[in-house]
Amino acid sequence: MNNRIRKIVENIKNLYRGRLLFDEPMSLHTTMKVGGNAAVFAEPSDIFSLALFISECRNCGVDFFVLGGGSNLIVDDSGFCGAVVSTGGFSSVELKDDVVVCGAGAEMSRVVEFYADRGIAGMETFAGLPGTCGGACYMNARCYSNDISSRIASVEYLDMEKFDGNSLKFLEKHIKMYHNDDKCSHWAYKHSPFMENNAVITKVALKAGECRPENTASIKAECARFVHDREMKGHFKAPSSGSVFKNNRDFGKPAGMLIDEAGLKGTKIGGAQIAPWHGNIIINTGNATCSDIRKLVRLAQETVKERTGFMLECEVVFI
Ligand SMILES: Cc1cc2nc3c(=O)[nH]c(=O)nc-3n(C[C@H](O)[C@H](O)[C@H](O)COP(=O)(O)OP(=O)(O)OC[C@H]3O[C@@H](n4cnc5c(N)ncnc54)[C@H](O)[C@@H]3O)c2cc1C
Repeated sequence: MNNRIRKIVENIKNLYRGRLLFDEPMSLHTTMKVGGNAAVFAEPSDIFSLALFISECRNCGVDFFVLGGGSNLIVDDSGFCGAVVSTGGFSSVELKDDVVVCGAGAEMSRVVEFYADRGIAGMETFAGLPGTCGGACYMNARCYSNDISSRIASVEYLDMEKFDGNSLKFLEKHIKMYHNDDKCSHWAYKHSPFMENNAVITKVALKAGECRPENTASIKAECARFVHDREMKGHFKAPSSGSVFKNNRDFGKPAGMLIDEAGLKGTKIGGAQIAPWHGNIIINTGNATCSDIRKLVRLAQETVKERTGFMLECEVVFI
């Protein structure tokens, strides 16, 4: 443990509630299953501990990033010398009037099931989406032409813009509510307003229609249909981070098709491979490193650029 991390631990020890792990392998927390160790891995169990931990990171000059389900995130082989802040401690899912309020760390599979169990329609296309509700909101996850932003009523987040140790005394002032009304046009394809303002999402309220228990069976059948479609597309055949590149309408074709037409499907570097069944998925065949994946990303970008003039942009976040 380095001195800065030691200082954080010392400063928070009587107030912080939640898990703290040291030298934690990030391969255990990402669906690609690669990445070195994080110097410290914090999973606070309440918002005060979250804020306390982050403010101490700031005070001690330690970088941090927020981790949801790790399904769109790849950590470097050398690891991360700062702090990883997991939302795993915020996993509640509750029906409140006409919204389902989800902790940022609630897994999307649980959220979808929560809707289906009560016969509430509207989340079926998100069945089979890995990761958390907070991650889906931050990334504006899109499933079968449905952006999660269309389902969001409001979002509670910690505004980190002007946050420091003193802010803890006035924590309520830094807990903000984003109301997703028609005036808010900050959403776009794979883009959320929370990317612009250093926000840590703590809760997401999703719109919910009426509970109709008589519809449970048909909603579950619809969810199963989407999961089956993903299985048929090979989403779960091997560890991956889902689509590596964003689609761009200007390119005229999906990123996967451009990679396929460049003859790159199945290309292997080290233990990483462009999935033989899908040009826009890179898989870990067992012993991939982050470096192998980065090389494949560059190869796909350079080859497609050479053939078409289009530069593919990463959707996956590299840390
Ligand atoms: C097999 C497979 C299929 C996939 N299919 C799809 C698909 O159909 N559509 C789609 O859009 N994506 C898809 N993905 C990608 C991924 O599942 C989504 O982007 C998902 O929403 C990411 O959520 P996460 O919790 O795993 O986020 P993470 O991977 O943990 O994080 C992603 C980014 O969000 C940030 N973040 C996470 N939580 C918070 C928070 N609470 N506050 C602030 N920032 C936060 C992280 O810092 C990071 O920058 C797929 C991935 C896999 C592996």
